[in-house]
Amino acid sequence: MTLLTDTEKYWNPVLETLPQEKLCQLQLKKFKWILSWAYQNSPFYYNLYRDVGLEPGDIKTLDDVKRVPKVDKAMLRTAQGKEPYPYGDILSMPLQQVTEYRQTSGTTGQPVYHPETWQDWEWSAESWAYILYAHGYRDYDRVFVPFGYSVFIAFWAGHYAAEKVGCEVVPGGVLDTEARILKMKELRATAFMATPTYILGMADTARTKLGIDPAKGLYVSKITAAGEPGASIPSTKKRMEEAWGAKVYDTVGATEIGHWGYECKAQCGLHVNEAFHLVEIEDIDTGESISVPGKSGSMVITTFDRLAHPCIRFDSNDIIEWSPIEKCECGRTFRLLRGGVMGRTDNITKVKGVLLAPGAIEEVVRDMPQLGDEYEVVVTKKGDVDDITLKVELLPERKAEIDAVRETLNRELRAKTNLRYNLEFHDHGSLPRYEVKARRFKDLRAH
Ligand SMILES: [Zn+2]
Repeated sequence: MTLLTDTEKYWNPVLETLPQEKLCQLQLKKFKWILSWAYQNSPFYYNLYRDVGLEPGDIKTLDDVKRVPKVDKAMLRTAQGKEPYPYGDILSMPLQQVTEYRQTSGTTGQPVYHPETWQDWEWSAESWAYILYAHGYRDYDRVFVPFGYSVFIAFWAGHYAAEKVGCEVVPGGVLDTEARILKMKELRATAFMATPTYILGMADTARTKLGIDPAKGLYVSKITAAGEPGASIPSTKKRMEEAWGAKVYDTVGATEIGHWGYECKAQCGLHVNEAFHLVEIEDIDTGESISVPGKSGSMVITTFDRLAHPCIRFDSNDIIEWSPIEKCECGRTFRLLRGGVMGRTDNITKVKGVLLAPGAIEEVVRDMPQLGDEYEVVVTKKGDVDDITLKVELLPERKAEIDAVRETLNRELRAKTNLRYNLEFHDHGSLPRYEVKARRFKDLRAH
């Protein structure tokens, strides 16, 4: 019998184990190609480059790439809404070629519209397929996809990628959380993909509402986490893996750029898919390029081979750092990032004059076994002074430990964030639950 899918295609040693030097040559070639494509076919990019006197032929080395102007989300938003409606003059293909409408989640404002041609959609699913293969998905897996299939891109490409790898895919679209868990149990699903918030939320619902321990009563052996940094925060990853009795692998991406980074089975950081993307790291203060481990900076990323809506030197605001690991035990030569995406530059706020990254609070809360998975941070202003409150849920069986918990929280939060918090203890299950991206950090100060 001829097989219709080719699982092993997604372990591609020709690309994934290419020596770095060869990989750089490939990246330069692909960068030059997409730059010429955008220059010739998108009025937006043509004007952007013409204004600084840049022509695609000026780029001769990877070092020259820095001369190409960056684009950011605000520029993409400004460009959209014009003709051809609604994508504007970034569109580099005739509108008739567009077969899918997608958009960003809108977490940080007005969503960015994203057009996909059939060819680009193939590319999106293809880039995810390498990720799922690296997470151990094979043709014998039954993959449950528990998200609301809608305009937000979320796990759409993950769904198609799982099919490409040869898995059997179960779309868990309009079901509620309890129905999803029961369906996963009934069908003996072996893998699923969700945000860290929802991975923990589903486990909680299984235990408290259905009396099912996911680690024992379900069949899941691997989970792909995306959409939030949780799977690269050690305490959150540990919680998820223990709750499900399964391996949890991180992956990162964005609507505008596709899925560009993933953990492999070695779980030692995120590999950048360097056959599909060029990732640069810039110093947040000086804009200088960072090419060695030891210093974090802001990511600038280029997507190759996606033609309708090119994304060239996109300033993503993600904070990342090169890993000191040079050779991963999985065999891939794609460079590794240490600790995944550490946060976003626009998520870091000043409270009482101190820079605060909300991820640091998550690390502390999720490291305490007496607390539930949910928490909320509220910043307000009393007169001229900032006030910060952390709301947590104390597990019912650990209520006697409240004083010790308070003391540890105060100490650890002070050490990790340099701030003092008002602590509020709530009943387990009383703080808001989220299905996709959580909004746990609430800044109520007037700006
Ligand atoms: Zn690896």
